[in-house]
Amino acid sequence: MEPNGILIYAQKNQEGRIEPVVFELLSKARSLKEKLWNQRIMVCLIGERKNYDSIVNELGKYGADEVVIVSDDRLKDYNKIYHSEIFTQIAKKYPPRIILIGATPQGKEIAAYTSTKLETGLTADCTNLDIGENYLLLSTRPTFGGQMTADILCKTFPQMATVQQNIFQAIKKENTARAIFNWIDIDKIENKIEIIKTIQKEKHNKDIREAEIIIAGGQGACQENGFALIYELAKKLNGAVAGSREAYEKGYITKSQQVGQSGKVVAPKVYIAIGISGADQHLTGIKNSGKIIAINKDKNAPIFKYADIGIIGDLFEILPRLINEIDIDKEEKNE
Ligand SMILES: Cc1cc2nc3c(=O)[nH]c(=O)nc-3n(C[C@H](O)[C@H](O)[C@H](O)COP(=O)(O)OP(=O)(O)OC[C@H]3O[C@@H](n4cnc5c(N)ncnc54)[C@H](O)[C@@H]3O)c2cc1C
Repeated sequence: MEPNGILIYAQKNQEGRIEPVVFELLSKARSLKEKLWNQRIMVCLIGERKNYDSIVNELGKYGADEVVIVSDDRLKDYNKIYHSEIFTQIAKKYPPRIILIGATPQGKEIAAYTSTKLETGLTADCTNLDIGENYLLLSTRPTFGGQMTADILCKTFPQMATVQQNIFQAIKKENTARAIFNWIDIDKIENKIEIIKTIQKEKHNKDIREAEIIIAGGQGACQENGFALIYELAKKLNGAVAGSREAYEKGYITKSQQVGQSGKVVAPKVYIAIGISGADQHLTGIKNSGKIIAINKDKNAPIFKYADIGIIGDLFEILPRLINEIDIDKEEKNE
């Protein structure tokens, strides 16, 4: 079968709502479609058995022509094995020219699995998409640590890209999507994952744009108990937790906690950057801070050029001591 159109993976959040990046991708897909002889835009939706009319309607408003639904009660929660394999089977059944997936932790897993199974290329973390020579997808992504961008043409089909969130604007238009129900024999998928319990991410209610003290973690804290320590310090200081894009992409913070060019611009009295290198895109968001304190084990980290106080060292040694010191201070005051 000739590859036809654009296929988008409809990922859902913990509450079962479609992630905004899906609507952003649909809006962009509409402009790509115009350059591809108006081929169809399909969305693949995987979930538990329920009525999907309102979701199909909503996806249609953003540009979906057809919504392929695979439903089974075992698919209520995201299961890397089931969801990746089902999405791959749908991509084989309705071979698209282009596959677009939001570059969230879930989207990245699905994309990596699918591209391997379909033996095609994958351009990750794109910041722009267009149709280039020979009607091929032209994917733009940052390279050299974000200092430059590269335009990448994938010459195998389907051409796959994951796209960062908040890059494209989600624009509604009146469209009616058709729902196509599919049955996939899930028993034939060798599932090695059992979901025992789903734990909601810790919600930090403070809006980082209003916080006087922000404790932000970066890639350096995305290991072991790094963010647990950051949350503990924030509690002691009555501050808000934020982070870099790396921390967001690794799932340690929510999008509303991301600071920087594609996140929020903040203006606290004190900004504590922990395990954050100080990339331009991050610094853009913290320029209005009163004082910047940086903790980093690399003495040459760019963040130190902008910090009022710099602590060179391992955050896993420094944070427990800091948290402990704050306790001691309190105890002394109480005596
Ligand atoms: C279009 C575009 C938009 C972007 N928007 C944003 C944005 O909004 N916000 C943003 O933050 N980034 C953004 N970025 C990404 C940005 O370029 C950087 O990639 C990102 O900020 C790096 O995050 P980081 O500092 O956490 O990670 P890294 O650059 O990997 O730095 C990690 C740091 O942790 C330190 N470290 C490691 N282990 C330890 C330890 N045990 N103790 C102490 N220190 C340690 C390391 O020395 C290093 O300096 C954007 C990029 C592009 C191209």
